[in-house]
Amino acid sequence: MSEITCTDVSKLYDPKGNSILAVDEVSLTIRDGEFLTIVGPSGSGKSTLLRMIAGLEDITDGEIRIGDRVVNDVPPQRRDVAMVFQNYALYPHMSVQKNMSYGLKLTTDLSTEEINQRVEETAEMMGIGDQLEKKPGSLSGGQQQRVATGRAIVRDPEVFLFDEPLSNLDAKLRMSMRTELQRLQEDLETTSVYVTHDQTEAMTMSDRIVIFDEGEIQQVGTPEEVYANP
Ligand code: ADP
Ligand code: ADP
Repeated sequence: MSEITCTDVSKLYDPKGNSILAVDEVSLTIRDGEFLTIVGPSGSGKSTLLRMIAGLEDITDGEIRIGDRVVNDVPPQRRDVAMVFQNYALYPHMSVQKNMSYGLKLTTDLSTEEINQRVEETAEMMGIGDQLEKKPGSLSGGQQQRVATGRAIVRDPEVFLFDEPLSNLDAKLRMSMRTELQRLQEDLETTSVYVTHDQTEAMTMSDRIVIFDEGEIQQVGTPEEVYANP
């Protein structure tokens, strides 16, 4: 089971005594296999909430569960989540193959052969099978996006976390990647949390949408419910 439960989760940043309550007692359940999108303006705390689920940011208060496990103190690599970042966060000095296999090497005891096979299959599926020896810097934005998504998929995680993964792509590519991500999600049946400020993206991809503002949930519902009752 990979339901995610946030209970009264808060995040207080305190740069130089200047406190910012980025997430304010948020409670939310993301159902097993659901595609849930968090939409809201820049600075509303979406990324912070996602990063807390990923384990990349400490939780100031509250509890996050993944499945039946409280993960507050579990490091990111042991949470069975994979995240795709807005800037892709690929390792520039490593080939595509290394970028995709590195996490598997660190977190599993699969043999090199098994890892290579999984990377190859995933790269084929993502349409980058012929790019494996290249460095990320020589790829287009769309190809880098595929590598970043492939790197997440290859780990076969219970949970996918997406932080504005399409916002650096041009409009046309964004649309086709949207369709692909949707298809992937349906095929893999992985619980997915997707952060965006793009309402169209949210409406077309999601089972449910959370409208976020100033660190709080304003509304939760299906796309129809949320956009019929603004
Ligand atoms: P969003 O993803 O909706 O754009 P963020 O979660 O990035 O929002 O930011 C929420 C608030 O927290 C903003 O006011 C932002 O400036 C602040 N913030 C984010 N990260 C940090 C940090 N590392 N240190 C201090 N403040 C931060
Ligand atoms: P996003 O658009 O994904 O929310 P941002 O561009 O707001 O990301 O932030 C990028 C990075 O800078 C993040 O790691 C975030 O935690 C950090 N950050 C954001 N706001 C602040 C801030 N006010 N002080 C320090 N770090 C911040």
